[in-house]
Amino acid sequence: MLNSTLEVSHLCTSFFTDRGEVKAVDDVSLRVDKGQVVGIVGESGCGKSMVARSVMGLVKKPGKIVGGSIVLNGQELTSLDDKELCEVRGRDVSMVFQEPMTSLNPTMRVGRQVQEVVAIHEQVSKEQARQRTLEILSAVGIPEVEARYDAYPHELSGGLRQRVMIAMAMIMRPSLLIADEPTTALDATVEAQIIALLKRLAHTGTSVLIISHNLGVIAQLADYVYVMYAGRIVEKADVCELFDNPLHPYTHGLLGAVSSLRSQSKVLQTIPGVVPNLANLPAGCSFAPRCDRCMAACDSVRPELVTVGAGHELCCHLTKGVDVL
Ligand code: SF4
Repeated sequence: MLNSTLEVSHLCTSFFTDRGEVKAVDDVSLRVDKGQVVGIVGESGCGKSMVARSVMGLVKKPGKIVGGSIVLNGQELTSLDDKELCEVRGRDVSMVFQEPMTSLNPTMRVGRQVQEVVAIHEQVSKEQARQRTLEILSAVGIPEVEARYDAYPHELSGGLRQRVMIAMAMIMRPSLLIADEPTTALDATVEAQIIALLKRLAHTGTSVLIISHNLGVIAQLADYVYVMYAGRIVEKADVCELFDNPLHPYTHGLLGAVSSLRSQSKVLQTIPGVVPNLANLPAGCSFAPRCDRCMAACDSVRPELVTVGAGHELCCHLTKGVDVL
């Protein structure tokens, strides 16, 4: 029996622009096992959402998957046509986006929107679809579901709208739920509630791929973490290992931002510099212009992912014993 729900191998997704090929996802491999919560973390523009879009078959022109494979429950997705991908989406894999207001139809009652997902994938009576909708709305913690079924999106709070999105994503009981920055637009209390809900879903056997710029969110949810920078995985490890023994200077930077928020330090620690332009990456390590551990080799030699411990891989020249963090 297959243990992995999702296996992405050497995925490359590029955009073909006037300035040439932009490698948004460059040789990314990752795996999500059954019932596991896997996190991808990195700043905006590092390629994490493009990994999710590639898995969902939602890469729009001038973007294109140019290499690698995406296997969901044993089925290769990169060879499917649009119609076949449409059947897989919603039924086997579904996605929750950052801002529900832009994903929900503002002119349609939310219950109808959730119910429509059932109608697309199954032949059931309207009454059966309505009943399933009420059950899932209740299961994701929406109170007074009969009344909320008839509400329009603008009549609900941000937290309730996000719960509607999760209900819509979960109604077909997909084996994989992808949540892209699901709590970014929410206040801290509602964020905690949505994290608790996603955790509950994972305990029912759904595999979850969570994408966030915030290592604090990832720490609360994920079993295993991939750190992405400039389209590549730069560190991957079990969540405890990553927090106990972070090795990549970029991971250190992301952790610094979380700890300064936790300590309520007046000075928010940020990583100096900006994410590089993917159309014009440095020749060596993409993080070199921002890295305070940069060595001579970093400017000219691109590091590769190497194993540095059990389940822990690192893409940095510091692994070569030249230096130890
Ligand atoms: Fe920093 Fe060099 Fe490691 Fe890149 S390879 S993260 S520049 S130490």
